[in-house]
Amino acid sequence: LEVRLVTIETQGGRQVAVLARDGTSVRPLKPSAGEASGSMLDLIAAWPAFRDGIDPHLGAHVALGDVKLLAPIPRPSRNVFCVGKNYHEHAKEFASSGFDSTAKEVIPEAPVVFSKPPSAVIATGETILGYLDPTRSVDYEGELAVIIGKGGRGIGRATAMAHVFGYTIVNDVTARTLQQKHRQWLLGKGIDTFCPMGPAILTADEVPDVRKLNLRTWVNGELRQDAVVADLIFDVPTLIETISAVIALEPGDVIATGTPVGVGIGFSPPKFLKAGDRVAIEISGIGRLENPVA
Ligand code: MG
Repeated sequence: LEVRLVTIETQGGRQVAVLARDGTSVRPLKPSAGEASGSMLDLIAAWPAFRDGIDPHLGAHVALGDVKLLAPIPRPSRNVFCVGKNYHEHAKEFASSGFDSTAKEVIPEAPVVFSKPPSAVIATGETILGYLDPTRSVDYEGELAVIIGKGGRGIGRATAMAHVFGYTIVNDVTARTLQQKHRQWLLGKGIDTFCPMGPAILTADEVPDVRKLNLRTWVNGELRQDAVVADLIFDVPTLIETISAVIALEPGDVIATGTPVGVGIGFSPPKFLKAGDRVAIEISGIGRLENPVA
């Protein structure tokens, strides 16, 4: 059973469903008492007991065109953890852009962790409101995001991967001039609609080696980013170890792991997103996250 989990909205309300292998239909997961109430966060918490017996809970196939796909976690229970400058070539392009007001070194000595508020999350197909940045310096950042399954504080590298529920895609959309102007990145990156997420969560047991996943980003069909997760400066176990050392991770937490080289600010002159542009991000096995810009 290949498990790609999605959150859908139908006339019956919001529920979690399993995306069919060919991606053309979904099978809603029918809630059972004490197991899952229909939200992704509840399912993640219940997953250890649920995982082996999922088949009896699967409803009939529904065509994907007949449901609205939401972000897999439409409203995370707290901020989305994010990691800045976590690919070597991207750290260099960011440093040479002159937009970096926060650090003197090119390659960080420790993970650069910040967060985006849950209110920034939108689904694939929904519109990035670029006009909320009055300076129109909106940039894309295609990223692999880790979904935490089992929480905890003080999780060590050696056991960190056992805490991963699955993986999705996040576009860490950024208003570059606000990122620079306000020093802290919250206002530059926490803007409403600036956290597209999805389309699905690929469960961790479908990913024998996360380092082999490939990430690609296109703007209006033009390939801008193409990297493998193995190029991360700080890998997934290190990120989990670093964050959980001081903040207890909780089931359903999202960690966006950073973006590779090829963002708009890396070009001279910068290639910022304009109204009418479309940004698409694909990661092998997870799917395609595509959003128009207004
Ligand atoms: Mg980023």
